[in-house]
Amino acid sequence: MRKKIVAGNWKMNKDYDESKNLVTKLLNSCKPGKAEVIIAPPFINLLSSIKILEDSLIKVAAQNMHYADSGAYTGEISGSMLKSIGVEYVILGHSERRAYFNETDELLSKKVDAALSNGMRIIFCFGEELNDRKSGIENSVVKSQIENALFHLPSSSWDEIVLAYEPVWAIGTGETASPEQAQDMHAFIRSTISSAFSQDLANSVPILYGGSVKSSNAKEIFSKPDVDGGLIGGASLDADHFGMIVNAIQ
Ligand code: PEP
Repeated sequence: MRKKIVAGNWKMNKDYDESKNLVTKLLNSCKPGKAEVIIAPPFINLLSSIKILEDSLIKVAAQNMHYADSGAYTGEISGSMLKSIGVEYVILGHSERRAYFNETDELLSKKVDAALSNGMRIIFCFGEELNDRKSGIENSVVKSQIENALFHLPSSSWDEIVLAYEPVWAIGTGETASPEQAQDMHAFIRSTISSAFSQDLANSVPILYGGSVKSSNAKEIFSKPDVDGGLIGGASLDADHFGMIVNAIQ
C-alpha cells in the first residue's frame, strides 16, 4: 500500500518564537495515525523544529535548496547543509519558486539530483496555470514538468520522491480543484509514470494534492483512490486546523 502523507508548507510565515509555539502545539494536534506528517518551516526555524520533534513521528522539510553543495552563492542554502542538521525532506518546484524566482525545469532537475545525492527525500511540486486549464492543455503541461525534472532518474531513485500536484489557480485562492479533477490528474500522472517506467513504480509513488485544502474539504479530496494526501499551505499555520486535515486521511 502507498504511504499517505500530509505536509504543511509554512512559506515565509512564523518568526522564531511563533514557530516553536506552533511546532509544540502540533505534537498534540497531529497524533501518529494513518498519515506521515511533514512540516516545512522557513530555514531559520528548521533546527528548532527538529529539536522539538525529536521524539515524535513528525518529519521536517526545507522549502528550497541550492543545487551546489557549497560555494559562492550568497544567500543560498545547500542540501548538504540541510542534511547536516537532520532535515529529511525538501520541497522543490513550488509554483511560487517557479513564478517569483524563475525556477525552470532545467534548474529543478539539477536541484533534484543534488537533493538525492545528499540523501534527502523530495516533495516535487508541479501544476498547470488557469490559462492552461482553460485551453485544455493541463495534462501536457503537467507531463512536461515531471518529465523534464524527474524522468532522467533511475527507477531506484523514485523511492525518495513524493509528487505534489498543485494547480496554480487553486493555491492560496480559496478555490480547490474538485475531487474529480484531482483524481483525473493524479490518474493521468500515474499512467505517465507507468509508460515511462513501470506500473509497479507508478503504483508506489505517493501523489499529494495541493491547493486550498482545508478541514472542510480534505476528507472528500483524500477519499479519491489516486490522491495519497495533501500539501497544505495556509491551513498548516494553525495547529488544530492542520491536525483536522491530518485526521481526514482514512
Ligand atoms: C501551497 O502553497 O503549497 C498550497 C497548497 O497553499 P494553500 O493550501 O494555501 O492553497
